[in-house]
Amino acid sequence: MSEILILHTGGTIGMTKTANGYQPDGNYFRGAIHHMDSLKAPGMPKWDFMEMDPLLDSSRMTVREWNRIGGIIAENYDNYDGFVILHGTDTMAYTASALSFMLKGLGKPVILTGSQIPLCETRSDGRDNLITSMIIAGAGKPREVCIYFGGMLLRGNRATKYSADGMQAFQSPNYPPLATAGISIIYNESAFLRRRSEHFEFKPLADDVPIGVIKVFPGLRFDLFDSIITDKLNGVVIETFGSGNIPDDQGVLLPMLERAEKNRTVVAVCSQCPQATVDMGTYEAGGGLKRAGAVCGRDMTTEAAVAKLYYLFSVYDDIESIKFNMERDIRGELTQGEEI
Ligand code: ASP
Repeated sequence: MSEILILHTGGTIGMTKTANGYQPDGNYFRGAIHHMDSLKAPGMPKWDFMEMDPLLDSSRMTVREWNRIGGIIAENYDNYDGFVILHGTDTMAYTASALSFMLKGLGKPVILTGSQIPLCETRSDGRDNLITSMIIAGAGKPREVCIYFGGMLLRGNRATKYSADGMQAFQSPNYPPLATAGISIIYNESAFLRRRSEHFEFKPLADDVPIGVIKVFPGLRFDLFDSIITDKLNGVVIETFGSGNIPDDQGVLLPMLERAEKNRTVVAVCSQCPQATVDMGTYEAGGGLKRAGAVCGRDMTTEAAVAKLYYLFSVYDDIESIKFNMERDIRGELTQGEEI
């Protein structure tokens, strides 16, 4: 019988209502899951339960908490066949992306899940999300960091929160689901991540890497970012239009990017279209980014690009290796294409 570890980090699934709105409630949740008969039913993996202190609304998660979650998985790696991480939906895709980079050579499933409605409420989606995640973690098939939510198992670093109200809160617009859970759980094994190293290693993130995200919009005044694009900024993700286009009729953008290049700030280009692949050579309007030394995020989500910048700045000292690896597929987070 397989054995899994459930780690409760916070989020709606374990919240109860207070006078100030929903808040994590460790006492309630601990009691509730230990009394759920379905978690002890035949066919379920054996499980142990741990919780982080403090439990957090995931909007409060930082690199420090990502390191603690990764550290708990690493310390318990040899004792369990899989891990279920209960987490708030707001930043679940960021945490999943960060874990995918930090847990190098992962050979067991790490499934993040949560719910839109707290477990304490009658219509909660937390019950199925928890039970199915446990079954998937126990079955041991995908050996990667995933999000299970609303009947779909997605690669963690390809997922993005799509809905704040619907039961299918996540999508993976540039990569197929790893499994769908209807009457049976149907795995899409050809989409699973190929394990690239037989040696599992936990690489914590440095918690002092300043990263920024800029979303472009018509009329954006790049000169307003002068005080942000300084040598204090290690990396910035620019969410461009479509396939990598950016407005530049003020003649400010390119000098700003050149200054970033001189300051050794990595500028990564992603798209604000959820379903897209950036190709900075398609339109003249995007060509300047390439000439100024920006790196192409291809079909990476912004969540994955941010987590990858944190990771690469934590493991490399030289900017060339960081830029080279930003454009390379290292954990299945982007589709490697032709040299562009
Ligand atoms: N604010 C909550 C959180 O991210 C939302 C959720 O869990 O759905 O912790």
